[in-house]
Amino acid sequence: MLKITHIDIGGCEGCTVSLLRASKMLENCEFNSIITSKNEFEMGDEDMIIITGAICINDEEKMELLENLKEKNCAIVAFGSCACVGGITRYCRGEQQPKPEHMTFQPINSVINVDYAIPGCPPAPRILKPFIEAYEANKPTNPIQIFKSVAKVKKLSGYDLIDDVVLQNICVGCGACVLSCPNNALQMINKKPDLIAEKCIRCGTCYVRCPRASQILIRGV
Ligand code: SF4
Ligand code: SF4
Repeated sequence: MLKITHIDIGGCEGCTVSLLRASKMLENCEFNSIITSKNEFEMGDEDMIIITGAICINDEEKMELLENLKEKNCAIVAFGSCACVGGITRYCRGEQQPKPEHMTFQPINSVINVDYAIPGCPPAPRILKPFIEAYEANKPTNPIQIFKSVAKVKKLSGYDLIDDVVLQNICVGCGACVLSCPNNALQMINKKPDLIAEKCIRCGTCYVRCPRASQILIRGV
Protein backbone atom coordinates (compact mmCIF):
# COMPACT_ATOMS: atom_id res chain seq x y z
CA MET A 1 0.00 0.00 0.00
CA LEU A 2 1.38 3.41 -1.00
CA LYS A 3 1.93 5.63 2.01
CA ILE A 4 1.40 9.32 1.19
CA THR A 5 1.82 12.28 3.53
CA HIS A 6 0.63 15.75 2.64
CA ILE A 7 2.41 18.70 4.23
CA ASP A 8 0.95 22.18 3.85
CA ILE A 9 3.51 24.95 4.17
CA GLY A 10 1.32 27.90 3.27
CA GLY A 11 -0.81 29.46 0.59
CA CYS A 12 -4.52 30.12 0.41
CA GLU A 13 -5.53 26.53 1.36
CA GLY A 14 -7.21 25.98 -2.02
CA CYS A 15 -4.67 23.26 -2.89
CA THR A 16 -5.18 21.63 0.49
CA VAL A 17 -8.94 21.46 -0.04
CA SER A 18 -8.46 20.07 -3.55
CA LEU A 19 -5.96 17.49 -2.30
CA LEU A 20 -8.15 16.37 0.59
CA ARG A 21 -11.03 15.87 -1.83
CA ALA A 22 -8.72 14.06 -4.24
CA SER A 23 -7.49 11.75 -1.48
CA LYS A 24 -11.03 10.39 -1.07
CA MET A 25 -10.81 8.98 -4.60
CA LEU A 26 -7.58 7.07 -3.96
CA GLU A 27 -7.59 3.31 -3.56
CA ASN A 28 -4.95 1.18 -1.82
CA CYS A 29 -3.25 4.25 -0.36
CA GLU A 30 -2.67 5.40 3.18
CA PHE A 31 -3.11 9.16 3.03
CA ASN A 32 -2.26 11.49 5.91
CA SER A 33 -2.46 15.27 5.89
CA ILE A 34 -0.41 17.51 8.15
CA ILE A 35 -1.34 21.16 8.31
CA THR A 36 1.06 22.75 10.68
CA SER A 37 2.68 26.08 11.33
CA LYS A 38 5.56 24.33 13.07
CA ASN A 39 8.02 21.57 12.35
CA GLU A 40 6.26 19.45 14.95
CA PHE A 41 5.56 16.06 13.42
CA GLU A 42 7.50 12.84 13.13
CA MET A 43 8.25 11.59 9.68
CA GLY A 44 7.75 7.89 9.07
CA ASP A 45 8.31 5.54 6.15
CA GLU A 46 6.39 7.53 3.52
CA ASP A 47 6.60 6.51 -0.14
CA MET A 48 5.52 9.95 -1.25
CA ILE A 49 5.33 13.42 0.30
CA ILE A 50 3.04 15.96 -1.31
CA ILE A 51 3.70 19.61 -0.48
CA THR A 52 1.27 22.49 -0.96
CA GLY A 53 2.27 26.15 -0.79
CA ALA A 54 5.36 28.11 -1.79
CA ILE A 55 8.31 28.32 0.57
CA CYS A 56 8.95 31.61 2.33
CA ILE A 57 12.73 31.71 2.59
CA ASN A 58 12.48 34.00 5.66
CA ASP A 59 10.50 31.35 7.55
CA GLU A 60 13.13 29.35 9.44
CA GLU A 61 10.75 26.60 10.60
CA LYS A 62 9.53 25.85 7.10
CA MET A 63 13.04 25.99 5.72
CA GLU A 64 14.14 23.49 8.37
CA LEU A 65 11.18 21.28 7.54
CA LEU A 66 12.16 21.19 3.86
CA GLU A 67 15.82 20.64 4.74
CA ASN A 68 14.78 17.60 6.79
CA LEU A 69 12.91 16.20 3.81
CA LYS A 70 16.22 15.98 1.93
CA GLU A 71 17.01 12.98 4.13
CA LYS A 72 13.91 11.13 2.96
CA ASN A 73 14.12 8.44 0.36
CA CYS A 74 10.71 9.01 -1.16
CA ALA A 75 9.06 10.86 -4.05
CA ILE A 76 8.57 14.57 -3.43
CA VAL A 77 5.56 16.08 -5.18
CA ALA A 78 4.73 19.80 -5.39
CA PHE A 79 0.97 20.20 -5.65
CA GLY A 80 -0.43 23.49 -6.96
CA SER A 81 1.12 26.43 -8.76
CA CYS A 82 2.51 28.08 -5.60
CA ALA A 83 4.54 24.99 -4.70
CA CYS A 84 5.49 24.35 -8.35
CA VAL A 85 6.44 27.73 -9.77
CA GLY A 86 5.61 30.34 -7.11
CA GLY A 87 2.07 30.93 -8.35
CA ILE A 88 0.03 33.65 -6.74
CA THR A 89 2.67 34.27 -4.05
CA ARG A 90 4.62 36.16 -6.72
CA TYR A 91 2.23 38.99 -5.81
CA CYS A 92 4.17 39.56 -2.58
CA ARG A 93 5.88 42.88 -2.61
CA GLY A 94 6.97 43.07 1.06
CA GLU A 95 5.36 43.88 4.42
CA GLN A 96 3.18 40.76 4.53
CA GLN A 97 3.68 38.43 7.50
CA PRO A 98 6.30 37.19 8.24
CA LYS A 99 7.46 40.31 6.47
CA PRO A 100 8.91 38.83 3.33
CA GLU A 101 10.59 41.06 0.83
CA HIS A 102 9.83 40.92 -2.88
CA MET A 103 10.45 37.42 -4.28
CA THR A 104 10.81 35.96 -0.78
CA PHE A 105 8.32 33.24 -1.72
CA GLN A 106 9.84 30.66 -4.00
CA PRO A 107 8.79 27.35 -5.52
CA ILE A 108 9.89 24.48 -3.30
CA ASN A 109 12.35 23.22 -5.91
CA SER A 110 14.47 26.27 -5.03
CA VAL A 111 15.23 24.48 -1.72
CA ILE A 112 14.87 20.73 -2.34
CA ASN A 113 14.75 18.40 -5.30
CA VAL A 114 11.22 17.84 -6.50
CA ASP A 115 10.31 14.73 -8.49
CA TYR A 116 6.90 15.81 -9.76
CA ALA A 117 5.20 19.20 -9.86
CA ILE A 118 1.45 19.33 -10.49
CA PRO A 119 0.50 22.95 -11.29
CA GLY A 120 -2.96 24.46 -11.04
CA CYS A 121 -4.61 27.08 -8.88
CA PRO A 122 -5.64 24.71 -7.42
CA PRO A 123 -5.18 21.53 -9.47
CA ALA A 124 -8.49 19.75 -10.04
CA PRO A 125 -9.01 16.94 -7.49
CA ARG A 126 -9.52 14.41 -10.30
CA ILE A 127 -5.90 14.81 -11.41
CA LEU A 128 -4.42 12.97 -8.42
CA LYS A 129 -5.84 9.47 -8.94
CA PRO A 130 -4.52 8.96 -12.51
CA PHE A 131 -1.20 10.46 -11.45
CA ILE A 132 -0.87 8.01 -8.54
CA GLU A 133 -1.94 5.08 -10.74
CA ALA A 134 0.61 5.99 -13.44
CA TYR A 135 3.28 6.53 -10.78
CA GLU A 136 2.63 3.12 -9.21
CA ALA A 137 2.60 1.41 -12.60
CA ASN A 138 5.80 3.31 -13.52
CA LYS A 139 4.17 4.35 -16.81
CA PRO A 140 5.64 7.36 -18.69
CA THR A 141 2.23 8.81 -19.52
CA ASN A 142 1.86 12.36 -20.77
CA PRO A 143 0.83 13.93 -17.44
CA ILE A 144 3.65 12.14 -15.63
CA GLN A 145 6.16 13.50 -18.17
CA ILE A 146 4.77 17.03 -17.84
CA PHE A 147 4.82 16.87 -14.04
CA LYS A 148 8.42 15.65 -14.15
CA SER A 149 9.36 18.50 -16.47
CA VAL A 150 7.66 21.19 -14.41
CA ALA A 151 9.52 19.88 -11.34
CA LYS A 152 12.78 21.07 -12.95
CA VAL A 153 11.49 24.54 -13.77
CA LYS A 154 12.30 27.28 -11.27
CA LYS A 155 10.91 30.28 -13.09
CA LEU A 156 8.33 30.87 -15.81
CA SER A 157 6.59 33.99 -16.94
CA GLY A 158 4.45 35.58 -19.60
CA TYR A 159 7.66 36.81 -21.22
CA ASP A 160 8.76 33.19 -21.71
CA LEU A 161 5.36 32.33 -23.20
CA ILE A 162 5.66 35.14 -25.74
CA ASP A 163 9.29 34.25 -26.54
CA ASP A 164 8.87 30.47 -26.78
CA VAL A 165 5.41 30.17 -28.33
CA VAL A 166 4.09 33.37 -29.88
CA LEU A 167 7.32 34.64 -31.42
CA GLN A 168 8.18 31.12 -32.58
CA ASN A 169 4.89 31.12 -34.47
CA ILE A 170 3.62 27.91 -32.89
CA CYS A 171 0.72 29.59 -31.03
CA VAL A 172 -2.64 28.16 -32.15
CA GLY A 173 -4.62 31.05 -30.67
CA CYS A 174 -6.64 28.89 -28.27
CA GLY A 175 -6.68 31.57 -25.54
CA ALA A 176 -5.99 29.16 -22.65
CA CYS A 177 -3.15 31.38 -21.46
CA VAL A 178 -5.38 34.48 -21.31
CA LEU A 179 -8.06 32.61 -19.36
CA SER A 180 -5.55 31.16 -16.90
CA CYS A 181 -3.74 34.39 -16.00
CA PRO A 182 -4.71 35.44 -12.45
CA ASN A 183 -3.72 39.05 -13.08
CA ASN A 184 -5.22 39.77 -16.50
CA ALA A 185 -1.73 40.31 -17.86
CA LEU A 186 -2.52 38.74 -21.22
CA GLN A 187 -4.95 39.88 -23.86
CA MET A 188 -5.81 38.51 -27.29
CA ILE A 189 -4.83 40.85 -30.11
CA ASN A 190 -5.34 39.65 -33.68
CA LYS A 191 -6.02 36.11 -32.33
CA LYS A 192 -2.68 35.93 -30.53
CA PRO A 193 -1.85 36.67 -26.86
CA ASP A 194 -0.07 39.87 -26.04
CA LEU A 195 1.58 40.59 -22.69
CA ILE A 196 0.80 43.64 -20.58
CA ALA A 197 4.31 43.56 -19.14
CA GLU A 198 3.73 45.66 -16.03
CA LYS A 199 0.94 43.32 -14.89
CA CYS A 200 2.87 40.05 -15.17
CA ILE A 201 3.78 38.68 -11.73
CA ARG A 202 5.83 35.80 -13.20
CA CYS A 203 3.58 33.15 -11.69
CA GLY A 204 4.13 30.75 -14.59
CA THR A 205 0.48 29.71 -14.86
CA CYS A 206 0.06 30.67 -18.52
CA TYR A 207 3.11 28.68 -19.58
CA VAL A 208 2.03 25.43 -17.96
CA ARG A 209 -1.54 25.85 -19.26
CA CYS A 210 -0.45 26.45 -22.86
CA PRO A 211 -0.68 23.22 -24.91
CA ARG A 212 2.27 24.32 -27.05
CA ALA A 213 4.49 25.39 -24.16
CA SER A 214 3.77 22.18 -22.25
CA GLN A 215 5.16 20.26 -25.25
CA ILE A 216 8.32 22.35 -24.96
CA LEU A 217 8.50 21.41 -21.27
CA ILE A 218 8.09 17.70 -22.06
CA ARG A 219 10.88 17.81 -24.62
CA GLY A 220 13.11 19.30 -21.93
CA VAL A 221 12.81 16.15 -19.71
S1 SF4 B 1 1.19 36.47 -17.92
FE1 SF4 B 1 -0.21 36.07 -16.22
S2 SF4 B 1 -0.23 33.83 -15.98
FE2 SF4 B 1 1.57 34.35 -17.23
S3 SF4 B 1 3.26 34.51 -15.77
FE3 SF4 B 1 2.41 36.58 -16.06
S4 SF4 B 1 0.88 36.84 -14.42
FE4 SF4 B 1 1.33 34.63 -14.57
S1 SF4 C 1 -2.31 29.00 -24.61
FE1 SF4 C 1 -0.50 28.85 -25.96
S2 SF4 C 1 -1.31 28.22 -27.95
FE2 SF4 C 1 -3.06 28.98 -26.73
S3 SF4 C 1 -3.22 31.19 -27.26
FE3 SF4 C 1 -1.93 31.05 -25.46
S4 SF4 C 1 0.18 30.98 -26.28
FE4 SF4 C 1 -1.20 30.48 -27.95
